[in-house]
Amino acid sequence: MIIIRVHEIEADRPSASPNTPARRHWAARRGRAGRTGPGKPRALRALRALRALTAVAVAAALAALSACGAPASSKTGASGGQAGPKVMASFYPLQWLTQRIAGDGITVASLTPKGGEPHDSELELSQVSALGEADLLVTLGGFQAAVDDAVSSNPPAAVLDAGPLVGLEDEDPHFWLDPTRLALLAEPIAAALAEADPSGADGYDSRAEAVSADLAALDQEIAAGLGDYGGAVLVTTHAAFNYFAQRYGLEAMSISGVDPEAEPSPARIAEVSRQLGQLPVKTVYFEDQASPKTAEVLADRLGLATAVLSPLENDNSGDYLEVMRANLEALRTGLVAP
Ligand SMILES: [Zn+2]
Repeated sequence: MIIIRVHEIEADRPSASPNTPARRHWAARRGRAGRTGPGKPRALRALRALRALTAVAVAAALAALSACGAPASSKTGASGGQAGPKVMASFYPLQWLTQRIAGDGITVASLTPKGGEPHDSELELSQVSALGEADLLVTLGGFQAAVDDAVSSNPPAAVLDAGPLVGLEDEDPHFWLDPTRLALLAEPIAAALAEADPSGADGYDSRAEAVSADLAALDQEIAAGLGDYGGAVLVTTHAAFNYFAQRYGLEAMSISGVDPEAEPSPARIAEVSRQLGQLPVKTVYFEDQASPKTAEVLADRLGLATAVLSPLENDNSGDYLEVMRANLEALRTGLVAP
């Protein structure tokens, strides 16, 4: 396996600050929860692998390219028999971005089942097998234990880990809800695609520029749309909107934790009710793919409305840009401007 050295690719981008201590903390906490096993040894192994591979990575990548230049055997691979590199992404926003940059000639497969929820997704054996045949996986290490395990057991030719590029904070994976953080991945993805398929490099670069421009326009639209809502309190069931709130000057407050399946305790509901009673809030937001029950309980108790806000975690949500604009409209309707 060749690990693409994302720190090098990003070395000249001051806005992408690797957040290594937080990542270690996150891995360690997940390890304690027993879902991934001890995080630290894995991180150390990855570090050692990185060091060991530095000198040979480029040469090996070039050697591998001559082997995967022939599309003949790609029938059962990640991208359904097309010519060109086999590219996978671990869940929807990464798949959306990678697909935009890869272009129409390449189908970027997602490792999260259609409509599935990435926090606790399991992989099919066929996906693990396809992963081993892939030329590139774009993923968020530490977010999906099943994907991390599959990368260890059946590694693709190259892995691009978004985590060090997007400035993850604490143990919160939901960076993609800030379009400017998602845009930080465009150039590295184009570079990784070009490494797997040098003949397509110009196309990858120009499409990376195009999608970056789309994300910048979206960012400006949201900033303008929420311009009157600075300091407004955004109440969601699932703690997915911290990066979004940080970017657009909202105060995010969540009822459950980071895991959308987690049910808050009655004590937590009571505590949130007390807090919300003191705040200028008229809407409790719940996510599109989860049960509205928690939001409805709280909204009933306090006489508030409920509305959907998509965390864009799966491909049933719709196109990333469209869903972000729908979220903006839902916020303009449901937030209280201070
Ligand atoms: Zn989430």
